[in-house]
Amino acid sequence: MLPERSEVVVIGGGIVGVSIAHELAKRGVDVTVLEKRFIGSGSTFRCGTGIRQQFNDEANVRVMKRSVELWKKYSEEYNFSFKQTGYLFLLYDEEEVETFKRNIEIQNKFGVPTRLITPEEAKEIVPLLDISEVIAASWNPTDGKADPFEATTAFAIKAREYGAKLLEYTEVKGFIIENGEIKGVKTNRGTIKTGIVVNATNAWAKLINAMAGIKVKIPIEPYKHQAVITQPIKRGTINPMVISFKYGHAYLTQTFHGGIIGGIGYEIGPTYDLTPTYEFLREVSYYFTKIIPALKNLLVLRTWAGYYAKTPDSNPAIGKIEELSDYYIAAGFSGHGFMMAPAVGEMIADLITKGKSKLPVEWYDPYRFERGELRTAALQMG
Ligand SMILES: Cc1cc2nc3c(=O)[nH]c(=O)nc-3n(C[C@H](O)[C@H](O)[C@H](O)COP(=O)(O)OP(=O)(O)OC[C@H]3O[C@@H](n4cnc5c(N)ncnc54)[C@H](O)[C@@H]3O)c2cc1C
Repeated sequence: MLPERSEVVVIGGGIVGVSIAHELAKRGVDVTVLEKRFIGSGSTFRCGTGIRQQFNDEANVRVMKRSVELWKKYSEEYNFSFKQTGYLFLLYDEEEVETFKRNIEIQNKFGVPTRLITPEEAKEIVPLLDISEVIAASWNPTDGKADPFEATTAFAIKAREYGAKLLEYTEVKGFIIENGEIKGVKTNRGTIKTGIVVNATNAWAKLINAMAGIKVKIPIEPYKHQAVITQPIKRGTINPMVISFKYGHAYLTQTFHGGIIGGIGYEIGPTYDLTPTYEFLREVSYYFTKIIPALKNLLVLRTWAGYYAKTPDSNPAIGKIEELSDYYIAAGFSGHGFMMAPAVGEMIADLITKGKSKLPVEWYDPYRFERGELRTAALQMG
């Protein structure tokens, strides 16, 4: 049943919308999530599971440090799979090493214990690696991965326990707006009265912004990214997320069920089409076996596609849109929305309940595009 009224309406039931609802409900706010299909059905259940603090700017490092604290806390409290199995960036030339040294300095400044290691040390962490061309690696053992199905479901269950309503197959079709103020949200199942809306639809964010008549330019476009999973092998074979920019911007790791999951920088778009392509399968096989030759012995079980919702600087738009009262956005997460979600939940809940956040939310200012103040492009893989 659609409630007649809700203090806050979150549009989009991916990990970001669910985290926001969880955080608000935990603080006693009356919140409803409207999801047009089922929880996680957008990009969330299609993601590569990775969670890292190895970014190249202060804001993302700080936000991800907080996010990892929350991943740890909630996975322990709610009993879902999150493991700090590390991220290992393989580096192949001096220029890459210099770039990563600068990144490591920023990360260390905020207490993220990344360090440069030798190829031999990298091979100790993942014995199957081909290190013949590797000259160093950037290693942070406190990065990790989580199961998107378990994690999103756990946050959804807890959000409901705290009193949030999460409504599936409820598609937002429009808004009731009077004198620049939101009065309600129209859906395929009726209208719900509210004064506060959060647009957490990521790849669809521009459509919701258009429905709300938002004028400020927030360029978020959907790009097709594909992923692969192999047959399961002995658990513990590839614990960390392994990254190689040289070989296709590839990322790969082993899921908790044993399959090797990952993707490459093979991107198509902007598009809403999600048909998997043969070219991706061919390229991912080539690049993965360059990094770990033994993978050539594995069968691919499945490939699929999802969206990287991209902004021009690969940083999301998070904040309040002043032209419409009260309208917030948390969208445009590129390849790092899953990992950021717990911190984003906290930031949006802080903005709604306190008007400010202790995390550097201004880095994600939705008005930066209009002002021509793009951020340093966030480190992205895939
Ligand atoms: C192949 C691949 C690998 C990735 N790997 C990683 C990774 O390793 N780590 C990482 O952090 N991120 C990764 N990502 C990115 C990550 O998946 C996304 O950034 C993240 O899932 C975004 O979550 P979200 O909740 O913002 O969006 P979504 O999960 O897309 O949720 C948005 C929801 O809004 C709903 N919606 C849209 N329109 C409406 C409407 N009108 N009414 C109601 N509901 C609506 C949609 O149905 C959808 O469920 C990957 C993405 C892909 C495609």
